[in-house]
Amino acid sequence: MYPRPWVLSGAGISTESGIPDFRSSGGLWEKVDPIENFSTWALYNNPEGFFTHGIPMFEQILEANPNKAHLIVGELQTKRFLGPIVTQNVDSLHQKGGAEWVYEVHGHIRTATCMDCHTNVVSMEELFNLVQDGQIPPKCHCGGILKPDVILFGDSMPADFQYAINLIRSHGSTDNMIIAIGSSLTVSPINSFPFEFEKLAIINNSPTALDMNAELILSGSASEIMQQIKNRLIELNKGKELQPLPAGFIAGRLATMLADIWNTFQTRKNITDRKERLNKITADVLLIEKLLTNYPNLNDRQAIEKYIVEISLKTIQKIKKELPRKPRPIDGYIPKSLNDIINSHYKALVSYLKQYNSQSDIIKEMILQILGLIGLYKYMESFKIQTFDYSLVDELLNKIPEIANKYEIMIDVEKGLNDY
Ligand code: NAD
Repeated sequence: MYPRPWVLSGAGISTESGIPDFRSSGGLWEKVDPIENFSTWALYNNPEGFFTHGIPMFEQILEANPNKAHLIVGELQTKRFLGPIVTQNVDSLHQKGGAEWVYEVHGHIRTATCMDCHTNVVSMEELFNLVQDGQIPPKCHCGGILKPDVILFGDSMPADFQYAINLIRSHGSTDNMIIAIGSSLTVSPINSFPFEFEKLAIINNSPTALDMNAELILSGSASEIMQQIKNRLIELNKGKELQPLPAGFIAGRLATMLADIWNTFQTRKNITDRKERLNKITADVLLIEKLLTNYPNLNDRQAIEKYIVEISLKTIQKIKKELPRKPRPIDGYIPKSLNDIINSHYKALVSYLKQYNSQSDIIKEMILQILGLIGLYKYMESFKIQTFDYSLVDELLNKIPEIANKYEIMIDVEKGLNDY
């Protein structure tokens, strides 16, 4: 159970909003030659071709509305069931569908920028007006060509691409699943992005280039499958609308971490310190079992949270059955890993703060996650199974209010610590 998988979306998520993709039959590439018409080369050498084909397409994209897939992805993100969205699309439909945390790795068509001075940014409406008045290519007052802020063939990747990579790398292994929706996964370099994650799930209506790397493939229409996923989540929530998961909710992640440690242990039969490892795993099983059976305020929580805890407990029981009868527990791996998770969330926050377009909503969300995790950490300590290293936690509890102040974000630290 992964509480917050990332999403990687492609043109296929928007076909049901009336925007054709590139590679399906009937897709755009069958009608227009991409290099002749949609490259930086074309902008300089064939501006007529670029703008004659481009403007009607841009207009169509700007008028499109989000479909069910965008709306459900947006809802699941704001309710903390999904993490950041990395999109290859330029249509802003994720944002229109309610998502707040989106990396547009191929740019967008909300604005156009001068290719020479790089300071003049105009709205697409202004760009359309210039073209309509016969100015092809449309020009900035400095004489440079105004280019929509999309990535064309021959361009380098925009800052969002690097931001997304930095973020997942600073998160380490804590967000270890990505769901690719409506992408043929053939466009480089973004098709290597899933390899930053341990696991990949694919939702697509035709085979993709990374099918053999996927843990799970759901074939069909993006909006229908997202609707089925939402229905299933509501069913697991006993028919009630989903409420946001608490910021630090990581029950499933702990059990998954343990299952991973256990699987590695079992597959590597020739480990020399076998006995010691087994003892460490046993210590973790005992700790997580105790945590999950005493999960804070479980009875006041929505059904789906209870369900995630139950499933996680089942994983623990499965591992327990395979453990030898009398292992000697010593310090395990999980408390240290939890320390690492908190640390990697903090590193991710620091990396996010370096982005020029960082948003206060997202900074707040990241701070709440760290506080929730620290709250859980403290709660675990009350079991007195292990002693924790508090130096990191103390340091963070000093730094977080400073960060919140600096970005003028209102945070109730005590409440945040209890939101696990
Ligand atoms: P792609 O055209 O290579 O692949 C789209 C995939 O989605 C195909 O495998 C197709 O079978 C599948 N698909 C189509 N409709 C679907 C549906 N309703 N449900 C499920 N699957 C569906 O797209 P890509 O991988 O995103 O690469 C194309 C490039 O073109 C990207 O770089 C993107 O920037 C650009 N593009 C963007 C838009 C947009 O912004 N909406 C539209 C066209 C192209």
